[in-house]
Amino acid sequence: MAPEISRRSWLKWSGAVAGATPLLTACAPKQPTREPLPIATDGMAGVDKTVWSACVVNCGSRCPLRLQVKDGAVVRVLPDNTGDDSLLNRQIRACVRGRNMRQRIYNPDRIKTPLKRREGTPRGGGQWDEISWDEALDLFAEKLKHTIDTYGNEAVFKVYGSGVWNAHLGTSGGWMKLFNLLGGSLGYYGNYSYSQIGTITRFHYGNPDEQISNSFEDSIENGRMLVLWGNNPQETRMSGGGLVFTSLEAAKTDGLRIVVIDPRYSESASLLADEWIAPRPGTDAALVAGIVHHLLANDLHDQAFLDRYCVGFDEDHMPPGIPAGNSYRSYIEGSGPDKVEKTPDWAAAITGVPADVIRRFALDLGRTKPVNISQGWGPQRHANGENQARAIYTLANVLGQVGIPGGGTGGREGYYWPLTSWFDDGKNPVKTQISNFGWTDAIERGPEMTALRDGVRGADRLKVGIKFMLEYGGNMLASQHADNNRTREILTDETKCEFICVVDNQFTGSAALADLVLPDTTTAERWDLAPSEYTGDMAYLIMCEKAIDPLFDSRPAYEMVTGLAKRFGLEKEFTEGRDLEGWARHIHETKNVPAVPGMPSFDELKKVGVHRYHSPDGLTVALKEFREDPEANKLDTPSGKIEIFSSELWEMSKTWEFPDAERGDKITALPEHVATWEGAEEALEADAKYPIQLIGHHFKQRTHSTYGNNANLQEAHPQVLWLSQMDAQRRGIADGDQVEIFNDRGRVQIEARVTPRIMPGVASLPQGAWMRMDAAGVDHGGSVNVLSRLHPTPVAKGNCQHTNLVEIKKA
Ligand code: SF4
Repeated sequence: MAPEISRRSWLKWSGAVAGATPLLTACAPKQPTREPLPIATDGMAGVDKTVWSACVVNCGSRCPLRLQVKDGAVVRVLPDNTGDDSLLNRQIRACVRGRNMRQRIYNPDRIKTPLKRREGTPRGGGQWDEISWDEALDLFAEKLKHTIDTYGNEAVFKVYGSGVWNAHLGTSGGWMKLFNLLGGSLGYYGNYSYSQIGTITRFHYGNPDEQISNSFEDSIENGRMLVLWGNNPQETRMSGGGLVFTSLEAAKTDGLRIVVIDPRYSESASLLADEWIAPRPGTDAALVAGIVHHLLANDLHDQAFLDRYCVGFDEDHMPPGIPAGNSYRSYIEGSGPDKVEKTPDWAAAITGVPADVIRRFALDLGRTKPVNISQGWGPQRHANGENQARAIYTLANVLGQVGIPGGGTGGREGYYWPLTSWFDDGKNPVKTQISNFGWTDAIERGPEMTALRDGVRGADRLKVGIKFMLEYGGNMLASQHADNNRTREILTDETKCEFICVVDNQFTGSAALADLVLPDTTTAERWDLAPSEYTGDMAYLIMCEKAIDPLFDSRPAYEMVTGLAKRFGLEKEFTEGRDLEGWARHIHETKNVPAVPGMPSFDELKKVGVHRYHSPDGLTVALKEFREDPEANKLDTPSGKIEIFSSELWEMSKTWEFPDAERGDKITALPEHVATWEGAEEALEADAKYPIQLIGHHFKQRTHSTYGNNANLQEAHPQVLWLSQMDAQRRGIADGDQVEIFNDRGRVQIEARVTPRIMPGVASLPQGAWMRMDAAGVDHGGSVNVLSRLHPTPVAKGNCQHTNLVEIKKA
């Protein structure tokens, strides 16, 4: 048992190994202070072997698992037994999902053999023929060749999927390498996690991805306040190696005040917060505006920082050629084009947060520095998500917190993540891309999609719609994309997308919509390596040894693609003479070992299982160099500074086209609040047809849709609708009642959890549930995407699946 640690006692640990600040400079890349335990010190006696493996799903972490094997079967799953309870050497404890890995490996939903949709039956009709691997690979190769010959490579598309995530080999599977060898396929940019913030950040901070903030470890050491803004690490980052641990340590830290901003009293609000503030969904930019108004009124903004590091805050610091009255300060003080002063009372009416709370919170922010505003990805997953994300960045700018210890950029908590040694898929010869969310449009009206209207990149427009689609390790077709009913209509029209193949180890709803289903293995049945991801200032790498032979007639994707490459005469180019273990060894020895001083060899890693390491630069203080010398370390924006007013967005607001514009479909140069379709303002209208804002939170039962069919986890964490007591009372709904949630797009029937843990006017249905549609068209699985919409956001053209209005009634 690891010894108990007191608040900030990790400093003593790090002091012991690192000496003085910067904390990690001296210690990196030192390894744990304790010798690793032998792999098999606990668990079941009399097993044949115990090997290191990992849970590799898209939860943001990755956890080591020790798999005990007897007679060719995994009989026990054990968690990490290395590390201890200190902050930078913490044990990487698997969450309840990874510990249920046996129920994933041996799930009755495992796909046992290749399946072909029965000739003459409709797509999605549920009738299948079992076929041999030769027949299956012949069919795939024939359809792929036909598509390329008939329509060109742009008609081939591998849709987003994240069921095998961040594994060196498994994530790729080799599919893109094959497509690239054959001339390429239509690409996509963005992802379902953070499309809006990932796209808009380059206009604000110049970063082509989101801009990270300081790490939680830095807040623990140097901060006085940590604001988790739409950020719920206790449910979205559940690995003991990740933020579930570091955020709890933050909560235990003397003198570090934690505020959680979320419409739902999340597990993070419950476990971490000194204060919970609940704005209506999609109104964060208005809340920021009200706060900034009060900061200005009390002279608590950092004018010196804004003058030196930012463009667009006030009229004296605008890009050339912009008419007067377009600065953020003018917007806040009511001298901008809308002539509305963004007082706390104005913000209260929109956000639902009382004006006195906004005033007091503004004073807290202005007087309690340094403060790290750590933005999650909930606020940006809205119809106005780009502006929401920029507004939260802007608050950190107004407070002058960028690039200093204990402060932050307003982005998501920082991390050290140097190892991205993916299987090399080569370069895609097709340069045309759509947004991650644009594939249903590309099936329906591909050649109509343009750069200015639909965000097509690399070309002015698409030449052709998607005709051949591959889903690998994902449940996008039936669950994770928006508007499940409309998506199903599009996919079952065989005149549009002519061939769909799904590759997975579980028979998902997406598999049910395929023409060909290929059975993949789980990680336990193949070789791989799994690096950490969002795990703060402790990075790590996990060995994944093949524990058992593939079950039934399944194969690792790599072997499927090898068979396909052979059919195209490309086997040598594809495999380069290596099997999966050979690739794992090759990538590790040629990329990982040189990149990380002290990284064990492949064979040594097989023994120790996990290798932890740290940044030589110490704890993550984002944009530190820019803060120290902004002239020498310019940002990649046109001005080289933080652009609170973006002249690029100003131009785009005039040139981008919104032919079917709805409320909120517009681009603004400032991070202002924009009222949108199905937003808070529409919900509050007296005659609103659908007056409840529905969001979809992450929760413990699943990682997106992965583990969604795991009976143990379903029992432990049942799918229920969170509904406020006030909204339930008005509708005669009691806790535990079956309710119907509905709008014009669909109907879901599920149990209600009537709770004070969600604000009135808002309901939440955990995202990722597998849809179970009855004959009347009602989903009993609880998929929030039955109710979400396909309409994309203005700039990123991304998914805004928290912007939904519904009504709820007793079923
Ligand atoms: S779901 Fe994430 S946190 Fe849970 S065991 Fe798997 S990798 Fe770890």
